[in-house]
Amino acid sequence: MSEYSKIEWTQATWNPVRGCIKISPGCKHCYAETFAERFRGVPGHPYEHGFDPRLVPAKLIEPLLWNSPKTVFVNSMSDLFQDAVPDEYISLVADVMLSTPWHTYQVLTKRADRLQRLLNGKLRPAADAPHVWWGVSVEDRKYGLPRIEHLRRAHARVRFLSIEPLLEDLGSLELSGIHWVIVGGESGPGARPMDGEWVETIRERCQSAGVLFFFKQWGGVRKAKHGRLLSGRTYDEMPQSQSMEMPSAKVRRGLARLIASSVQPSTAASLVQLAACVVA
Ligand code: SF4
Repeated sequence: MSEYSKIEWTQATWNPVRGCIKISPGCKHCYAETFAERFRGVPGHPYEHGFDPRLVPAKLIEPLLWNSPKTVFVNSMSDLFQDAVPDEYISLVADVMLSTPWHTYQVLTKRADRLQRLLNGKLRPAADAPHVWWGVSVEDRKYGLPRIEHLRRAHARVRFLSIEPLLEDLGSLELSGIHWVIVGGESGPGARPMDGEWVETIRERCQSAGVLFFFKQWGGVRKAKHGRLLSGRTYDEMPQSQSMEMPSAKVRRGLARLIASSVQPSTAASLVQLAACVVA
């Protein structure tokens, strides 16, 4: 969606898929749905179709158009592993990530069973890549904890949890095989409250397991009022991003054309035009 992002743990967002279907209590106040539905029916707007899931192949080469390396949240406005996205398209997204190792990608899903199956199968090269981090959302015990088990069983170089919105005490969280944990409360109208003790318990679990801990926000109806201090300080730990020089615009144009050649002819033509826009 954007070369820049206000989300505290990333720098940019990239949405080669738009829209999603709700799947668990964490989706109740989905910010992406609220945003997208505002534009339903607005002709020509990227969210003209509201939050209905759809592929956006024209966005595939977007990371090649950016002029500096970035940490990128993949599909901030959807879920890459939802049923509406064919395996072949997920593979294309993975190919783009593998072709652009100067960026660091953060892929987050609630469809952890499919993530596990694909990372242990056809996405194995992307699972092995140090610049692609794979994560699951966890909001409660019933839906969230089983996702952690799927992630743990998935082949991946970097595994992370986004525990947001945290809706209840998660108990003695098992963190073996997990590298990074983000915690946050829900924000906006109708936000469900988050107890400070639930957060402290997770922070202590991270500390004793040697897992990096990032406290995103308390949330609430007025998010800015509550801030992001936990016990008087911020927690901003995250894995080390890749440090790699970006290739020249000429090389990136070539890569963009290569990617364009692997999608449907109608989309490929517009992607080749876009590829020509890669500037030095
Ligand atoms: S899975 Fe994520 S994007 Fe999809 S509805 Fe739930 S919160 Fe929104």
